[in-house]
Amino acid sequence: MATLRFKVVEEAFRRKAVVVDAPASKVSDYYGCCVFNRETMKKYLSRETCSIVLNAIDTGVPLDREIANHVAAGMKMWAMELGATHYTHWFHPLTDGTAEKHDAFIEHGAVLGTVEEEFAGKLLAQQEPDASSFPSGGIRNTFEARGYTAWDPSSPAFIMDKTLCIPTVFISYTGEALDYKAPLLKSITAVDEAAVEVCKWFDPSVKKVFSYLGWEQEYFLVDEALFSARPDLMLTGRTLIGHESAKNQQLEDHYFGAIPTRVASFMTDLEYECYKLGIPAKTCHNEVAPNQFEIAPIYEETNLAVDHNLLLMSVMKKVARRHNFRVLLHEKPFKGINGSGKHNNWSLGTDTGVGLLSPGKTPAENLQFITFMVNIMMAVYKHNGLLKASIMSAQNAHRLGANEAPPAIISIFLGTQIAEVLDKLEQSSTEEAIHVDDKKRMKLGIAHIPEVLLDNTDRNRTSPFAFTGNRFEFRAVGSSANCASAMTALNAAVASQLREFKKSVDARIASGDSHEQAIFSILKEYIRISKPIRFNGNGYSDEWKAEAVRRGLDCETSVPVVFDSYLKPESVRMFEETLVFSEKELHARNEVKWETYTKKIQIEARVLGDLAQNHIIPLGLRYQSLLLENVSRLKDLYPEDTFRKLAAEELSMIQKIGEHVNVIKTNVTAMIEARKVANKIEEGRAKALAYHDQILPYFDVIRYHVDKLELIVDDELWTLPKYRELLFIR
Ligand code: ADP
Ligand code: MG
Repeated sequence: MATLRFKVVEEAFRRKAVVVDAPASKVSDYYGCCVFNRETMKKYLSRETCSIVLNAIDTGVPLDREIANHVAAGMKMWAMELGATHYTHWFHPLTDGTAEKHDAFIEHGAVLGTVEEEFAGKLLAQQEPDASSFPSGGIRNTFEARGYTAWDPSSPAFIMDKTLCIPTVFISYTGEALDYKAPLLKSITAVDEAAVEVCKWFDPSVKKVFSYLGWEQEYFLVDEALFSARPDLMLTGRTLIGHESAKNQQLEDHYFGAIPTRVASFMTDLEYECYKLGIPAKTCHNEVAPNQFEIAPIYEETNLAVDHNLLLMSVMKKVARRHNFRVLLHEKPFKGINGSGKHNNWSLGTDTGVGLLSPGKTPAENLQFITFMVNIMMAVYKHNGLLKASIMSAQNAHRLGANEAPPAIISIFLGTQIAEVLDKLEQSSTEEAIHVDDKKRMKLGIAHIPEVLLDNTDRNRTSPFAFTGNRFEFRAVGSSANCASAMTALNAAVASQLREFKKSVDARIASGDSHEQAIFSILKEYIRISKPIRFNGNGYSDEWKAEAVRRGLDCETSVPVVFDSYLKPESVRMFEETLVFSEKELHARNEVKWETYTKKIQIEARVLGDLAQNHIIPLGLRYQSLLLENVSRLKDLYPEDTFRKLAAEELSMIQKIGEHVNVIKTNVTAMIEARKVANKIEEGRAKALAYHDQILPYFDVIRYHVDKLELIVDDELWTLPKYRELLFIR
């Protein structure tokens, strides 16, 4: 009966590690060989063009058409030498993943009937993809379905699958962002400008502040044969049904354990592909759950890091196929075991090489460090609801608030040392805290912040936003998410906070305070105001939930309602003031969020309905009728009282199966009816709410009874690969 399941299990079992032909040479020999990076530019562009482009990258000044022509010519030559035949503008629409439309390099030649390879500057600089099917939240109605992609020179072009890929932003003809990259770039500029103003008090030579991101990508691998026998994995990326395996992660034997050979060869292959594309992959290891793994690169400037993460996610999928695996990037592919996140390690640093979140060696550096720490705390405090909205999705909702991941409440963990320093600062009088010595140099009277902090021994894994020595780790980001969403909100919030801080300090100076006095007194006030965001305890506990409500933090868990945070007056003001989003863009993007949410739940509901009705119920009934046949034979054979004894268990199983089947059937029918009602709703938010409130609750009920049936029905009959097979065959 269950032939497909046994066939795929056998296939997966027999699989051997695929041999990888990574070169024997050092990584540094081929690192970035598929990237049009600074080194390559020097080779393929004239000295003048090269210096103009590099200056544009470093300072953000726009490039003119003539320069674009020169760059395009150099890029084309380089790409063709590496065997590229096509080019594409590579962009991040408001869907999962990236979009590209490949065009061949060819144009009509001078002689009729011939072609020549062509790639003009205008094709590099700007394109107009037929973009009417990308989500825009109503910004483009169908007649005005025009949007264009524009080259982002700050992220280098690269070659993948014989195609020259040019990172671009995607915007509408009226100028609104239709993608993730455009607002990210704006937020990077906003935080740069705001932070430079503050840094100048400490070091007038600072001209630029970079935002850095080091992500840690978690994922699951499943054998492709098993994957293909699970419609839920194929269509929704997660298992909608399936009873927990007897063994899970309770022995914690997978974490940092030996990497299974097939996986090890996948990782070698993946690292090789990353290096060619200039992605500085650094660590690969097992994660907590069985068949769960992680890859993390060395941190980079945020825009590049985001591009590299998106690139990695698509490269992973391709490489996995070569190894007969499928990558699951879903935040919660399996019930009962850990889900996957994408920790975003974020920091700010100056062009003079100072990490603004690294405690310094001198008192002045320490004051700068504390200034940034405290302002970040204020930003996260003021915008905690928004930051949660920036990482929220139908998928990530399964992870947040479960007993494994950050809770659905944003708080900050500072570690005991920093917390002590701040407490002391708050209590000290300004005179105590600052001494100005005879050389007019400022001194910090508060405890010297020890450098051992850099070892960040003091950790709290339950915190969604934790300080880890020289950076904050935003852990609530989901594994399938585009990091740009979280990074845009964070950079913008911090930029806005730093601007406000600057204004307040300037005002105090104007009224006669010294710089140091002004900074100190405002920091003290901020430390006091932002206290509710600091939490060092167990973020998973129920006490914290109650406490967070008392503190006035955002504790909303309904995904469609969480998105409202983007439209709160303080969010709109913050985004407009930092020039990151206009109010119109915010509204449009929320429409997209609600619509995406609705569609995801809708698809899951359909798949679940199909699995329940067309897979589970029939096989439940089949097993029930086998039992019935047996029982009726027993009845024919034995006298009544012997029969009663012999058939007691079977009769009760027959009844249980019947009961489960009934509950499943009734709930699937009710869920379908609820969908019909929800589908009539026009308004995006209301529809998403209906899907959340009226449809989602059926999932758990249906699943509960399906999973109970799995425990009863003969294993031979069960058609879908079980958890133990999905999680332990590798
Ligand atoms: P963990 O102990 O959390 O696994 P890792 O040492 O693996 O930490 O680092 C996680 C990520 O943080 C890496 O991508 C690393 O490059 C990055 N990282 C380290 N320092 C910084 C920093 N100052 N700013 C941003 N990211 C950083
Ligand atoms: Mg980490």
